[in-house]
Amino acid sequence: MIFDTHMHCDYSCDSHMKIAAAIEAADKQNIGIVITEHWDDDYPTNPTAFMFDVDDYFARFGTYRSEKVLLGIEIGMQKQTAAADEALAAAYPFDYVLASMHCVNGRDLYEERCYAGQTKVEAVREFLTDTIANLELHDNFDAFAHIDYMCRYMPFTDKELVLSEAPELFDQVFKILVAKEKPLEINTRRLNDPLAVQALLKLYKRYALLGGKYTVLGSDAHYQEHVGRWLTEALALADAAGLEPVYFKERKMRKMRKMRN
Ligand SMILES: [Zn+2]
Ligand SMILES: [Zn+2]
Repeated sequence: MIFDTHMHCDYSCDSHMKIAAAIEAADKQNIGIVITEHWDDDYPTNPTAFMFDVDDYFARFGTYRSEKVLLGIEIGMQKQTAAADEALAAAYPFDYVLASMHCVNGRDLYEERCYAGQTKVEAVREFLTDTIANLELHDNFDAFAHIDYMCRYMPFTDKELVLSEAPELFDQVFKILVAKEKPLEINTRRLNDPLAVQALLKLYKRYALLGGKYTVLGSDAHYQEHVGRWLTEALALADAAGLEPVYFKERKMRKMRKMRN
């Protein structure tokens, strides 16, 4: 079964989807899903907005849990929260822990002011440098989310990550992930944009060349209509890069059967 391994429901403050709606959307497409509610400790401007009652999450969502509905978490990494992030991942029976970068040096990548005074290359290099620091401090996670997250929001004409703008930093990120055996997520959010696909393919190929073998596919849905969105494009991208799509259940990597014959 194909899995959409990244989406937000009742416990993510920015989501507009209830878990029952996510399951309904997945059933229609005959795909499995992994719920990955936001956990961003010490979020800039609102330190607790992206945190939730994890006991309540398991108590309420436990009844929905099945072979094709898995319960995970998306932990937004920051250097100062590394110890707490690691402890949280260890404290609960998650199927999947997805590590991500939503902030850089205490600033929110979502906000335009995050990039004030920077060129695009400077912003990307700062993001990669902070990613490296965080990947070195964090270990209790299964995969690394949306490397192109900042491409959604950075206020520059060229919004793509370009390997040649920071070759040694991209390599360092990929080498850490390979050494820790963590798949690099293909986030489907921007896969309707051919320019994004073109740029991303170069990154995923580089990750594969440095020893990366696996990827996870995630829509990052916050609305029911986005569950499973552009998974076909993601499978094609994984194929083109030479990466095998997987998902995690009970924190163990599982292989997905491919969609086509
Ligand atoms: Zn995210
Ligand atoms: Zn997300």
